[in-house]
Amino acid sequence: MAESGIVFLGPPGAGKGTQAEIIAACLHVPHISTGEILREAIREGTPLGHKAQTYVDQGHLVPNELILELVAERLHHSDAQKGWILDGFPRNVSQASFLDDLLEKRHHPPHQVVNLEVPDKVLIDRLLLRGRKDDNEEVIRNRLVVYYEQTSPLIDYYTKKGNLHSVNGDRTPTEVTLALKEVLMC
Ligand code: AMP
Repeated sequence: MAESGIVFLGPPGAGKGTQAEIIAACLHVPHISTGEILREAIREGTPLGHKAQTYVDQGHLVPNELILELVAERLHHSDAQKGWILDGFPRNVSQASFLDDLLEKRHHPPHQVVNLEVPDKVLIDRLLLRGRKDDNEEVIRNRLVVYYEQTSPLIDYYTKKGNLHSVNGDRTPTEVTLALKEVLMC
């Protein structure tokens, strides 16, 4: 498994970031969070940050043209050649097919996808507790709508491809980590 990539899928607040960090350390691969890359660009006031800010603040997806090349470049780094974890990408079907094409072009082995399943009620409570700038009630609602409209179709997409593992994320972080370690063999 360490030879290939892993995509962490799941609604906002499912615990993707926390779990991806732990699994990345365990597999010795980089944890690549597109949300974190965008937040850093916004903090630093880079051109990308300026273009992305309104979308991120409102809980909408940034346009694909801001994110696709960024991911392609990040996966090209030397630290990502033995594997990687993507957290927050892909977020829609066109991002997923971009990733598939990219990996095929680069002759990467097939990647795995883990889907963290958590009911809405639990997500909203968790996000309100987290208190990030884009974690107020209105923006949370937007992010959930965006998730159901654009990201959740990826569950079907990867089920058809046959590389999806669903994991119950409505448990303590330690229990979720144990389940993920079992699925991902680390
Ligand atoms: P996250 O940290 O994954 O919850 O992402 C925070 C915000 O960054 C999202 O609400 C989007 O505005 C933006 N974002 C992160 N990843 C992507 C992506 N793959 N495509 C478009 N927008 C993204």
